[in-house]
Amino acid sequence: MSEQISAAERMKQHFSNRVINQVRQVLELWRHLPEQQWTANSLTDFTLATEKLARFAQRFDADQHALLANELLSTLSSLRAGRSPNSEQLTKLNSIIVQLSQTALRQSDQAGCEQLIPEKKPVYIALEDTSHALVLAEQMQYFGLIPELHRSVVDFNQALLRRHPAAVVIDLDFHEPNYGIALAEKIQQRRDQPLPILFTYQQQAPSIEQRLAALRTGGLGIYQQQEVQAVIRHLEDVLDKTPQPPMRIVIVDDSRAQAMHSSQVLNKAGLLTEMVNDPLQVLDVMAQFEPDLVLMDMYMPGCNGMELAKVIRQQREYLNLPIIYLSGEEDRERQLAAMAEGGDDFLTKPVEASHLITTVTTRVKRARQLQDLIIRDSLTGLLNHTHTLETLQNILDKQPTHPVCFIMVDIDHFKNVNDQYGHPVGDVVIKNLALFLRQRLRKSDPIGRYGGEEFALILQNTNAEQAVKILDNIRQNFANLIHDSDSALQVTFSCGVAEWHGQALSQLVEQADQALYEAKRRGRNCVCRAG
Ligand code: GH3
Ligand code: MG
Ligand code: MG
Repeated sequence: MSEQISAAERMKQHFSNRVINQVRQVLELWRHLPEQQWTANSLTDFTLATEKLARFAQRFDADQHALLANELLSTLSSLRAGRSPNSEQLTKLNSIIVQLSQTALRQSDQAGCEQLIPEKKPVYIALEDTSHALVLAEQMQYFGLIPELHRSVVDFNQALLRRHPAAVVIDLDFHEPNYGIALAEKIQQRRDQPLPILFTYQQQAPSIEQRLAALRTGGLGIYQQQEVQAVIRHLEDVLDKTPQPPMRIVIVDDSRAQAMHSSQVLNKAGLLTEMVNDPLQVLDVMAQFEPDLVLMDMYMPGCNGMELAKVIRQQREYLNLPIIYLSGEEDRERQLAAMAEGGDDFLTKPVEASHLITTVTTRVKRARQLQDLIIRDSLTGLLNHTHTLETLQNILDKQPTHPVCFIMVDIDHFKNVNDQYGHPVGDVVIKNLALFLRQRLRKSDPIGRYGGEEFALILQNTNAEQAVKILDNIRQNFANLIHDSDSALQVTFSCGVAEWHGQALSQLVEQADQALYEAKRRGRNCVCRAG
């Protein structure tokens, strides 16, 4: 009897794997659409993959996946033959994709759902020093990565033939000087998409020649072998398949035809656009649309682009917003004068489609990187205190109908850690907890470093009861981590959970804080719920 059940379970697991793998396929195609733009071919590939997902999902009773796949298909079918989607359709597609990615990538948000997610591809580790390779592999496992150690060149090459890894971590001097680089070169030659490769070195810092050679094989970074956390964090970043939010562009032009042209070009690359023909409306539109960049005509009736750029820059929140002029002005002096007034770039009409797309997307990427530095804590890469609360406020402002929890986490007896092991070890513990939380929660769950050794989490679509379960599971696992291999240091945390029921933000935060206090009072290393 029990064997029958397990056979049935195995079947279920098998089918569910096929659905999730197909979801990953769809997400992968989506991720590469903007680079290729929405050509008829790429659109067909994407549609076929989605149809396959719909079929699998239906056959294997994956209702939610079937629903999302069909929504995607119906949006795709509303595109006129051969035409790429407009902003409205892109918004719809993006929102479905985000939901789809949550079903495929979530970590431990539902007890028991983990085993339904098929195994991820392994990360191959080829390090000269076996004991370091073991440390790296062990730590990677805690963070949900799947390490596979390869000691010899032969072993490593065979593994590559057997299965594509998700990424490779390899010594620059694997067995022979620079042999890691040579191997990396070979790997990349066999592939269409470059494989993420991180290099490590043992003692002597690599020369600039080595760095260049490593870079040319597609190496993404070079780390000293002790920098285990940095390697893991980098791997986490490259392997993160969460869809990026689409780029949002406001186009200001008094000529409707010109604005429409730019808009269609940008839509073709998957960017969302909003057109403004009356320059005096720009601030209202921006407040509503929240653009990543403004594309601005120079000469318009009522006010010119330079004045408008100045007005925009005077608002504190738009200080770092890229503004690009797109104008018929060919006089270099006047172009420079316009840039001095707060523009970041100047494109002359008529501009080639690919030139416009590249200029806009490059600026937005850089601006997002900068914004990331501003809102993130430098030690952990988590949201800083201010931005955590802003994120929470933004979520509550939308008056969500699904449950939302605010959670405070505080490391237990952290003063003792600093006192006994030193401040640098304390920092390692803080970084580990940050990584651990990131790895265990959904990518969509905002995580902040709230204070020194305090963290704050926002879980959506999760009620207090579920949140307690999730955090309790994380708490138990975290307690088993060894932070300092010399002293076998282990650390625990306490946690307070509060669910939102329409109360003000300050009250919600206060409730989580009270619950945390209660957890400390009960002896620490536990999770308490407010109320
Ligand atoms: P409790 O269980 O009650 O939370 O005890 P605790 O020792 O953790 O309590 P407390 O909040 O009083 O101490 C926090 C300590 O964390 C004090 C501070 O020196 C240390 N700390 C704060 N920020 C950092 C940091 O960035 N790095 C390190 N290493 N220590 C920090
Ligand atoms: Mg504290
Ligand atoms: Mg503490």
